[in-house]
Amino acid sequence: MPHTIAHWADNKPYPGSSGNTAPVTNPATGAITGHVALAGVPDARHVIGAATAAFPGWRDTSLAKRTAILFRFRELLNERKEELAAIITAEHGKVRSDALGEISRGQEVAEFACGIAHLLKGGLSENASTSVDVSSLRQPLGPVAIISPFNFPAMVPMWFFPIAIAGGNTVVLKPSEKDPSASLWLAKLWAEAGLPDGVFNVLQGDKDAVDELLTNPDVKAVSFVGSTPIARYVYGTATAHGKRVQALGGAKNHAVILPDADLDLAADSMVNAGFGSAGERCMAISVVVAVGSIADDLVARIADRARRLKTGDGTRDADMGPLVTRAHRDKVRGYVDQAERDGAKVVVDGRQVEPDGDAGGFWLGPTLIDNVRTDMSCYTNEIFGPVLSVVRVETYDEALALINANPYGNGTAIFTSDGGAARKFQNEVEVGMVGINVPIPVPVAYYSFGGWKSSLFGDTHAHGAEGVHFFTRAKVITTRWADPSHAGVNLGFPRND
Ligand code: NAD
Repeated sequence: MPHTIAHWADNKPYPGSSGNTAPVTNPATGAITGHVALAGVPDARHVIGAATAAFPGWRDTSLAKRTAILFRFRELLNERKEELAAIITAEHGKVRSDALGEISRGQEVAEFACGIAHLLKGGLSENASTSVDVSSLRQPLGPVAIISPFNFPAMVPMWFFPIAIAGGNTVVLKPSEKDPSASLWLAKLWAEAGLPDGVFNVLQGDKDAVDELLTNPDVKAVSFVGSTPIARYVYGTATAHGKRVQALGGAKNHAVILPDADLDLAADSMVNAGFGSAGERCMAISVVVAVGSIADDLVARIADRARRLKTGDGTRDADMGPLVTRAHRDKVRGYVDQAERDGAKVVVDGRQVEPDGDAGGFWLGPTLIDNVRTDMSCYTNEIFGPVLSVVRVETYDEALALINANPYGNGTAIFTSDGGAARKFQNEVEVGMVGINVPIPVPVAYYSFGGWKSSLFGDTHAHGAEGVHFFTRAKVITTRWADPSHAGVNLGFPRND
């Protein structure tokens, strides 16, 4: 029986008044399992109002109390992550181990944010001028919005909200309407951890909800993750309304395999990074750039591994689950059809997959396409599915030029046993996150996550020191206590002497 998935404000469910809903499906069966509320403007204002009312009290709550609550949240998450993983599998489709993996990467950020007291320490210069001290501190911004994509319903929100909350902000999370239940589970966990009413809220919805978050004057900052066209729109609209914005967009990640690479390591890595989570990862490898004479051997090794992967229901013993919706599955399959018509060679054909799962599921097996050219639609589009394209080039320089000409710059990798070549690549490649013999170079929480070019709009990356910077603003204080020697009127520009 499908259930209703509500908003969350002031530590309790809020049904909203719009009357609009969208169906939520289990991608492994195609069955509708819930109906998520879609906010209208009054609903959005109600939830933003809860965050706005809670801000003064939370801003003034001591660092010791804030971090104690964050520690409790982390402990509860760690104890009960299996529950959250099951929710993710049921609405996103990814297999259980993958769901647990995304939770642990999000949990890392909560652990990082437990050290917020150290990260917020300011500076003080005594006697900057005679008897004048100058100090700096960082303060929270106010209510902030987090707008997240379907592919990481737990990890992506957790890139942001532990730091935002630890830093003294209040949060409105707008999750993807395709898998909205994980955010409600996280909201309940915060309440259980003792977070005061209104500090963490969830607004369900689509464009109407997003537009209110981008334009409402009470919302001070927006962290967005999703496709590039929406990221560009979010950045333009929210900055025009005076907000601080980081908008992370789409990707087309290339892995360069040099002739001296360990080909077994490279093939394992291409399969893991190409087909993990059915390719629905912004850090998935989408293009293998095979350099020189190794191409045939490399393709054979990848194909052999890809054919052995088990596609099926994420609650069973599968390596790879279904795609998120029927429409998305059909779109991805369409790229494979077109590549074949364009003359590329479909070496492993996921369209023929026999899944271990319900016939109504949104299945597409691992697909390997060789001899892909850069003018084919499977190369020019972010596919976001289990499709790995192989582009063959003769030299390192050709491989580098290919990557640097691509409009995206999220992640990339190089496989080689030559340290000099790897170092040259890390220096020359125009991409924000680089792996050297590592296929998914997702930075750990104390570094920052973010791409270049059309993969990120704004100048601050997610989590790590940049995340702390994003969710706080600097104040500098110049102080003098009464000193008779400096008394008197002087209209000259203040000098330091
Ligand atoms: P999406 O852009 O369709 O949706 C992202 C969010 O925007 C959702 O909350 C959605 O409700 C909202 N949205 C959708 N259409 C909108 C509109 N017209 N106006 C305002 N808001 C709108 O993305 P998705 O399909 O959920 O996620 C997949 C995309 O996210 C891929 O492009 C992937 O590369 C990208 N992604 C990027 C990163 C990164 O770190 N750069 C991480 C994860 C996913």
